[in-house]
Amino acid sequence: MGFLREWRRRRRLRSARLDEALWARVTAKLSFLRGLSESDTGRLKDLVVLFLAEKEMHGAHGLQLTDEVRLSIAAQACLPILNLGLDVYQGWVGVIVYPGEFRVQKEEVDESGVVHTFEEELAGEAWPGGPVILSWEDVGLSERGYNVVIHEFAHKIHMDGGGGEDFPAARKGMDAEKWRKTLEEAYERFCADVDSGEPTFIDPYAAEHPAEFFAVMSEAFFTESAVLARDWPQLYGELALFYKQDPAGRGG
Ligand SMILES: [Zn+2]
Repeated sequence: MGFLREWRRRRRLRSARLDEALWARVTAKLSFLRGLSESDTGRLKDLVVLFLAEKEMHGAHGLQLTDEVRLSIAAQACLPILNLGLDVYQGWVGVIVYPGEFRVQKEEVDESGVVHTFEEELAGEAWPGGPVILSWEDVGLSERGYNVVIHEFAHKIHMDGGGGEDFPAARKGMDAEKWRKTLEEAYERFCADVDSGEPTFIDPYAAEHPAEFFAVMSEAFFTESAVLARDWPQLYGELALFYKQDPAGRGG
């Protein structure tokens, strides 16, 4: 199976061509891609070609999926897997894009066992083994430290890659104990920072749950890497091992 998939991908890459003018236009808005070396950019483009071929993107609520929308989402989704490979996103195909925030029904069971249903407005959502849902308006709001595409795909990497509810499992070759401890301690420190009422550089939403902390810190890792490396050096080091990338070392 793996061999056949590889063969298909190689064949596809030989015949497919990325629209270079469109790539330049789309990535001009994604400043965190600027520091990539030529060979990294080449591998990112290959991943994007395969991502667009293997995943199915749908516009919802009348959103017209232009080539620009598709390419922008694919480029951002593929950055975290640049050195991990597309198989990390194996087992699901759907990416659904809404024009803006979308409403979802949520259910919560309180301590007395009563089920409460309520509606929530979301900028993005990821399902284990299922689709990624994004608000295009929020994708467009991406800035240093905030990136809804990387956030949701970090959840996918966590959900579909094993590990507990809180954090993804360490990668082969990593010190699993150090990985878990570093994340736990960083999460506790961050929650204490938020509780103290001091403004935090990282989105306080990261204090909601360890899994959210991992996703938000992944956004910062790729889009505000120098600051993360400076303020959270241990965490940065572990994320660099996990993603097999050193964005702060890229400059640019
Ligand atoms: Zn999240």
